Amino acid sequence: MQELPEVTDPRVIDGRKIAQGIEAEVKKEVDAFVKRRSIRPALATILAGEHPPSKLYVKLKHWACKRVGIVSEDHKFPQETKQEEIIGLIEVLNKRPEIHGILVQLPLPKHIDERAVMMRIAPVKDVDGFNPLNMGKMLIGREGFVPCTPKGIVRALSEFNIDPQGKEVVVVGHSNVVGKPAAIMLLNRNATVRVCHVYTKDLKSHTKEADILIVAAGVRGLIKADMVKEGAIVFDVGITWQDERVYGDVDFDDVLPRVKLISPVPGGVGPMTIAILMEHTLAAAKMQAGE
Ligand code: NAD
Repeated sequence: MQELPEVTDPRVIDGRKIAQGIEAEVKKEVDAFVKRRSIRPALATILAGEHPPSKLYVKLKHWACKRVGIVSEDHKFPQETKQEEIIGLIEVLNKRPEIHGILVQLPLPKHIDERAVMMRIAPVKDVDGFNPLNMGKMLIGREGFVPCTPKGIVRALSEFNIDPQGKEVVVVGHSNVVGKPAAIMLLNRNATVRVCHVYTKDLKSHTKEADILIVAAGVRGLIKADMVKEGAIVFDVGITWQDERVYGDVDFDDVLPRVKLISPVPGGVGPMTIAILMEHTLAAAKMQAGE
């Protein structure tokens, strides 16, 4: 795996450090929960196909479970698996009381309707926040399980005591996984939010206005210094794999001199996303135990 340099620049958000803080807290609470209820939180992951990055992300999630004392189960399907087989497993996992969280690693193979699959995860076990019920709750500001990546961004802002209220937030990317939930969660915190995407005309005219810029397009180096406001806070969510390395959507070296804060790739949003997943799995176990 790619070596991460130590973060020494105060402008660089150390996602690993924030994640370690979250995981330490989760571990403490998991230990107390196990003592109190004799129930160990458990996460089941579902992976279909042979997409190497997805395999790595699932592995990282299982390692995180181990670190915090959460049991994890690894379910794998071949690329050509049928949608009904995945849904069948979800139905079984929904009914198993010792499984508290279910995570379907995206993307699923192209012949599978991701939305149809996500809808079948019981909302109380939907630790990734993709079930339409949880999405709808988020839309009306009753955030339960929300997608882990934008929640990690919100958490990072609070770590730096940055209140999004009244700030200009620009989100690049409008997927259900990152862009839209990030926009809604920041809107719920009274930011002024605009969402850009591949059909946005003159992207720069928008990004230049952002106090907080969240970039989740999956286009390596999309954001250059002249697209960023002086003193902005930049979250780079994008991941592009090239030659066994990962690259973000932000041209980091170009943009760094202009920013107040920036999350690097790797070592930024990714580890925080996984730590939030751990937090959600614990929350799911508590909820299912009636706490
Ligand atoms: P997606 O492909 O579903 O959506 C991409 C979005 O970016 C779309 O809204 C599209 O319109 C927009 N876009 C594409 N090209 C653009 C351009 N040139 N200008 C402006 N907008 C453009 O992807 P996604 O699932 O939202 O993920 C986005 C990126 O974030 C990917 O690289 C993904 O790997 C990464 N990701 C990282 C994490 C993490 O934990 N770090 C989690 C989820 C996704």
